[in-house]
Amino acid sequence: MPVPISQAWTVASYVLKQKLKGRKQYPLVLMLEPLYRCNLACAGCGKIQYPAHVLKRELSPEECFKAVDECGSPMVSIPGGEPLMHSEIEKIVDGLVARKKYIYLCTNALLLKEKLHLFKPSKYLTFSVHLDGQKEHHDFSVCREGGYELAVEGIKAALERGFRVTTNTTLFDGADPNSVRAFFDEMMELGVEGMMLSPGYSYDKAPDQKHFLGRARTRRLFRAILSNRKPGWQFNQSMLFLEFLMGKRDFKCTPWGMPTYSIFGWQKPCYLLQDGYAETFTELMETTEWANYGTESGNPKCANCMVHSGYEASGVDYTFSSLKGLLATARATLFTSNKDDGALELLNEPVTPVHSYNPLVKISPSADKLERTRA
Ligand code: SF4
Repeated sequence: MPVPISQAWTVASYVLKQKLKGRKQYPLVLMLEPLYRCNLACAGCGKIQYPAHVLKRELSPEECFKAVDECGSPMVSIPGGEPLMHSEIEKIVDGLVARKKYIYLCTNALLLKEKLHLFKPSKYLTFSVHLDGQKEHHDFSVCREGGYELAVEGIKAALERGFRVTTNTTLFDGADPNSVRAFFDEMMELGVEGMMLSPGYSYDKAPDQKHFLGRARTRRLFRAILSNRKPGWQFNQSMLFLEFLMGKRDFKCTPWGMPTYSIFGWQKPCYLLQDGYAETFTELMETTEWANYGTESGNPKCANCMVHSGYEASGVDYTFSSLKGLLATARATLFTSNKDDGALELLNEPVTPVHSYNPLVKISPSADKLERTRA
């Protein structure tokens, strides 16, 4: 089962209600970014590149609650920045748990062990730990030696105290499918509830522009990784979205499914692009030119995008759109092996892992920037 039954039921009844109301565009997961500050500076991330005065700012708990209430989605993902660096993160989490929102607190887990005492285990709270693969690959990806070990320590501590823990993994060009599959084994052995996957997106602001995947390469990579699946692997996300990544089905982008609220307001149109901001959720929904986005729109910014924030909600919506969607989801959930001899051959192709020919680069904010952004 990809997610616990109570969560699956909450999401299913919410989506069905939207369908009964005839709502075509509805939010499924609010991406709540309460700060952009981070204790890593990953080469594939656009957030840490903001100037110091932006990195210093935080959303207050009240601003977060207002956004969550306005949006009304059953799930809230808290990325960033690093949410555990927010000065009032425990108040934000407590307020969302009280509202019975299913929260995914997305963390690099460097601070998880020392901050765990701030939280209480709850079915509503999941620590979604950012791990981009096995040790060498993850450390390369986050530009931090020892990052993998610290994250694993954080995961173990959280699991020991009874918290829900998942991993979230972003895959870039140069990922070794065999290594990713071995990473899945490692994570399931650690005892995480499930794993989440997404291809990387080419942020204009990201310092490393070389390693983002095009659509054909994304499908090929995910077909190699996710076909011939081991029975023990659990994924905490839409099974149809995984089929989309493998090239087994096509979806249109539904950017309103995962709207983003940050210190700048409601971001148009999606988590990845910044084509302006709206002051309220209603204004976001009513004033965004949605037809200008998605791969089929011809917008070059969307050309290679297959990321979860654009397409996972599309998979969930498809599930509840027809009997065909329900059956497809049931089949993808029950029969997970995805036997594919061609994909086995892909696993035999030689891969030179990107970390084997590129030095691990730590991109450090300047001392001056660190000084001025200290909370
Ligand atoms: S295709 Fe990607 S970049 Fe374009 S609107 Fe959708 S999620 Fe955003």
